[in-house]
Amino acid sequence: MIIRTITCSGGCGEQIVLPHGTRPGVSEVRWYWPEDSKLLHFAHIKCGHLSSHTRPNGHNEFQIVDEEAPDVFWEVIFECDQESCDQQILIHTTSPRSVKRSQIEAWVRKIATAVKCDKGHLFSAASPLVSIQVIDFR
Ligand SMILES: [Zn+2]
Ligand SMILES: [Zn+2]
Repeated sequence: MIIRTITCSGGCGEQIVLPHGTRPGVSEVRWYWPEDSKLLHFAHIKCGHLSSHTRPNGHNEFQIVDEEAPDVFWEVIFECDQESCDQQILIHTTSPRSVKRSQIEAWVRKIATAVKCDKGHLFSAASPLVSIQVIDFR
């Protein structure tokens, strides 16, 4: 199966498989990208770096894999804490399935300090958590 990946730009060069899957009756593979978002922010727990990725086009960043990744793909949403800003900040990461949500939140807060909301406000320690969920298209 051809699936899409992002490559961590933190120096480790690890390829992260984006969540993907097919719907019954549809042969085309669907893959995850945050809605209405140009950038996908990825906090890599293994190397401790944040990388931001533009949406892959049809010609790059895909590969053929034989096995499913053992990790789950998390979407962590925070609220921008700037007064009168209504933006949400989406940050993604992967981990083994057994890791607790509170741990994921703590790691992401530590790694993703340079992320900005779409209006340019820096993500802060006071930004409230909105949700943490596993993206699973299967
Ligand atoms: Zn990395
Ligand atoms: Zn903001």
